[in-house]
Amino acid sequence: MAMRALNPFIEVRPYNRKLDEGNAAALVAEYDLVLDGTDDFDTRFLVNRACVAAGVPLISGAITQWEGQVSLFDPAHGAPCYACVFPVKPARGLVPTCAEAGVAAPLPGIIGGIMAMEAVKHLTGAGETLAGRLMIHDALYAETRVIGVKRRADCAVCGEGLSRAGAAGPTA
Ligand SMILES: [Zn+2]
Repeated sequence: MAMRALNPFIEVRPYNRKLDEGNAAALVAEYDLVLDGTDDFDTRFLVNRACVAAGVPLISGAITQWEGQVSLFDPAHGAPCYACVFPVKPARGLVPTCAEAGVAAPLPGIIGGIMAMEAVKHLTGAGETLAGRLMIHDALYAETRVIGVKRRADCAVCGEGLSRAGAAGPTA
């Protein structure tokens, strides 16, 4: 396998099954850190819920045709979760997936490389990670900016108390 040829010291575990509500929590709980580069919002929200429930930090990388984003979501240590920053899934068809719209060929490598760098920093404690910050790389204009992102107390995934308030609902 190509990855083992590059580095014989790693262990590669392929999972030949679809990630779903039934298996996500157990899978995520086996690891210290999760990197998500999936291409649909249902999976992103599912991975985030599983990571928050297990207290496992999540490095999330996303790309559209010319632009990419990376952050480290870690509400167990004060940083927001994915749903704090992106609380609502876009309506189906509103944001085209890479499979639908295409993506500039080098962009997955650029964003994937940044995600790998964040993983190395998180695991070694070196430097300052993107926890609490969202990096946005605009490849078309060669511009990168980093914005601060915060936990939301009313986050439906990692917030406290809001699910109770929501559960009360209107009275008849
Ligand atoms: Zn949250």
